[in-house]
Amino acid sequence: MDLLVVGSGFFGLTVAERAAAAGRKVTVIERRPHIGGNAYSEWEAETGIEVHRYGAHLFHTSNATVWAYVNRFTSFTPYVHRVFTTHRGVVYPLPINLGTINQFFRAAFSPAQARDLVRRQASEFDPKNARNLEERAIGLIGRPLYEAFIRDYTAKQWQTDPRDLPAEVISRLPVRFTYDTRYFNDVWEGLPVDGYTAWLERLADHPNIEVRLATDFFDESHPFSKGATVGRLPIVYTGPVDRYFGYQAGALSWRTLDFEQEVVEVDDFQGTPVMNYADAEIPFTRIHEFKHFHPERSASYPPDRTVIMREYSRFATGDDEPYYPVNTPEDRARLLAYRDLASNEKDVRFGGRLGTYQYLDMHMAIGAALSMWNNQLA
Ligand code: FAD
Ligand code: UDP
Repeated sequence: MDLLVVGSGFFGLTVAERAAAAGRKVTVIERRPHIGGNAYSEWEAETGIEVHRYGAHLFHTSNATVWAYVNRFTSFTPYVHRVFTTHRGVVYPLPINLGTINQFFRAAFSPAQARDLVRRQASEFDPKNARNLEERAIGLIGRPLYEAFIRDYTAKQWQTDPRDLPAEVISRLPVRFTYDTRYFNDVWEGLPVDGYTAWLERLADHPNIEVRLATDFFDESHPFSKGATVGRLPIVYTGPVDRYFGYQAGALSWRTLDFEQEVVEVDDFQGTPVMNYADAEIPFTRIHEFKHFHPERSASYPPDRTVIMREYSRFATGDDEPYYPVNTPEDRARLLAYRDLASNEKDVRFGGRLGTYQYLDMHMAIGAALSMWNNQLA
């Protein structure tokens, strides 16, 4: 074995694939009973519909190197992501765009008129000097739109009053003064034609790669454990960085999600892949309906049943799956301490979402793994 990779998500498998292609022998160990990390998907037993077990995953990128690389392992459907939201019993398109604005104000504003209105309504705060998420959002879109579409959704998602959240959280939500309802601005977008797991399996399918499932790096009873390997060969570790160091600088905080999956006996439950729920009275943030991610599979998906998944958000504790870094000031201080420790760890490189405590989209995790291979490992 020339390289040990801990974790079989996109980061770990991309490093493993590059190393194997360069003639190195790689072992990938994975704590879960399946490969693929959070991008893993499976065929729901009763309906045969592809379900993304750890939350809906939409692939998008503007990075030409990443796009060329991923296309070696899968082709993509022409899927374009669009999201709607329900507020007080009415459905509106997202991200907030001219259609949302006109529907909300029952108007027929031109782009210039809508801009004018939003500018007036947003004058309460200067987004550049916002002290928290609420001030930033009101400074960008004005109070009425903020209170309808952002305030309660954000409070549900973060279990925190938006006045106590950092302003940066909201910079991810674009506002458009056109009727363009594409959710992502990237050049390339689509879903893997035969599913995420087939793509992930092809990444790992090389005679130089051995994958060991249900194998925890911190379980000292096997020969790939931390105690048996660190300092003896190069390691790429993609598990949680605080866990690696025994939480000695404190635990980093994460949000987790609870998914409630249901097979519903109708052809079509909501007519679209993702419906957000903007109001505080609805306890979940959104409902995914997986059938709609693949309209091209309609002949093979059942005509009388559909799979939906309600998504609930909360702070992670104990054994919960870590999904989104919370990134409080304490977390940032702890992360600096862990980065220091990591830089002194002989021949161990920390990568991926958990290893760097960063929210990474799939294309970012793959891009970062390619860079780690090219610049540090090759
Ligand atoms: P992971 O996929 O988390 O893989 C890490 C692996 O390490 C896991 O399999 C884990 O079990 C394993 N591991 C951890 N500890 C150990 C240990 N001690 N021993 C052995 N193995 C261990 N990205 C997009 O581009 N589009 C989306 O729409 C999108 N939606 C998302 C929705 C949700 C709810 C979440 C959480 C993420 C989403 N992402 C999305 C991000 C995407 O999941 C990540 O970019 C991708 O999973 C990153 O891969 P990774 O390898 O860094 O981490
Ligand atoms: N957001 C919101 N209302 C919505 C959708 C998003 O207020 O209907 C805000 C919310 O604060 C969220 C952020 O925008 O945390 C980012 O949303 P996105 O859908 O990009 O997040 P993700 O899909 O990663 O959960």
